[in-house]
Amino acid sequence: MNELKNESLCALAMSEGRNWMPFTANRLVNGRGDHRVVALAKGPYYTMADGRTVFDSLSGLWCTPLGHGHPRIVEALRQQAETLDFAPGFQMTHAPAVTLAARIARMAPDGLEHVFFANSGSEAVDTALKIAIGFHKLRGDGGRFRLIGRERGYHGVGFGGMSVGGIVSNRKMFATVMMPGVDHLRHPYDHAHVAFSKGQPEWGACLADDLERLVALHDASTIAAVIVEPVQGSTGVLVPPIGYLQKLREICTKHGILLIFDEVITGFGRMGENFASQRFGVTPDMITFAKAVTNGIVPMGGVIVTSEIYKTFMSGPESAIEFAHGYTYSGHPLAAAVAHTVLDIMEEEDTNARVRALEPVLEEEVHSLRGLSSVKDLRNIGFTAAIELSPLPEKSALRSVQLFEYGLQEGVLLRVTGDTISFGPPFISTPDQIREMIQKVRNVLLRCEEDF
Ligand code: PLP
Repeated sequence: MNELKNESLCALAMSEGRNWMPFTANRLVNGRGDHRVVALAKGPYYTMADGRTVFDSLSGLWCTPLGHGHPRIVEALRQQAETLDFAPGFQMTHAPAVTLAARIARMAPDGLEHVFFANSGSEAVDTALKIAIGFHKLRGDGGRFRLIGRERGYHGVGFGGMSVGGIVSNRKMFATVMMPGVDHLRHPYDHAHVAFSKGQPEWGACLADDLERLVALHDASTIAAVIVEPVQGSTGVLVPPIGYLQKLREICTKHGILLIFDEVITGFGRMGENFASQRFGVTPDMITFAKAVTNGIVPMGGVIVTSEIYKTFMSGPESAIEFAHGYTYSGHPLAAAVAHTVLDIMEEEDTNARVRALEPVLEEEVHSLRGLSSVKDLRNIGFTAAIELSPLPEKSALRSVQLFEYGLQEGVLLRVTGDTISFGPPFISTPDQIREMIQKVRNVLLRCEEDF
């Protein structure tokens, strides 16, 4: 088996397509060999197998804000593996998970007090959706089964998350097997009104009224929950207009509908606060999290819920299992130990303050790209930003491949989805690294403008 780790065998296995890669044009990537294989990672940089070093402009997939190979996190992982590598999480627990739950609850907005662990964003979302439906049923309101997502929302790839998600290309193949009883709000981005906004657009709170349309259509008594990302990350950093989230909260409260914020990207500092809920001053009934909580070293996800939700579940006989749900690896000791160290570092280095200081640097740099002929819109909030390019009928997919390739040549790893390039650099980035990243992006765009 060991010889399969050999690099030439890696090339062979790639060319044979042995590793069926997620969300990937497999044949294209397999055909490009070494320069699509990552060999090493340190701080905010990756080194590809062909020797090129590239800046990690999206913190992996939004999940490595403290950079790669942090010695304290590596050590925490090693120590935990030596002490308690696994313990069943059903009918028993262990200190790292219990104390981590308490710690995350303390970091969350007031009122969100209890944590249910999962292993990924997708699992966290499906858990939250099940909690919502169970909550109403336990209160004798079992007619509330509908779940409301939002166009252009991304909530992972489980059947629940996929159904409430609103990315057309992710839904197409599975349209016939989506969960029943799901509807979608309009997305909160209207180019005509908000293009080139810095931070939160001033126009657009009225778009939250779309929830009243769905309430009128389905009747509030059938709706269990609304799930939204406070900032829609995967579809290119769609920033909530001022007042939009507040309005959603008000409408949910008025109709007894639970509000879930999917903070898989925004949780743990990306918005300069522990959670985006705190940045925007809106408290949901549940928050889903994953990614940054372990700095991407080992998987972990979870849901934070209000005491009202928790107490509702804890109301039956004491010997009965209150929520027939959970994962073999819920609250895994390695993930929990790593998360403690990640949160220690975030606290000690006050990464929230660091993000708030870096936000204007990224904002100024990204908006300096305005005027390039291919740029249709630029958006930013917290330590995230996106460039939206004018669509190229028939050629957008080809251009995104080219953007990625030019990025590798210029020294920046780019996350290109369709016509959008998204940025979420590591919190450890320096202002100079951000300036350098955008300079490289400018070069990439100029080269692409010549080609298309
Ligand atoms: N929810 C949001 C908002 C996400 O951005 C993602 C992933 O990017 C997910 C859920 C799914 O997370 P995972 O890929 O860990 O299942």
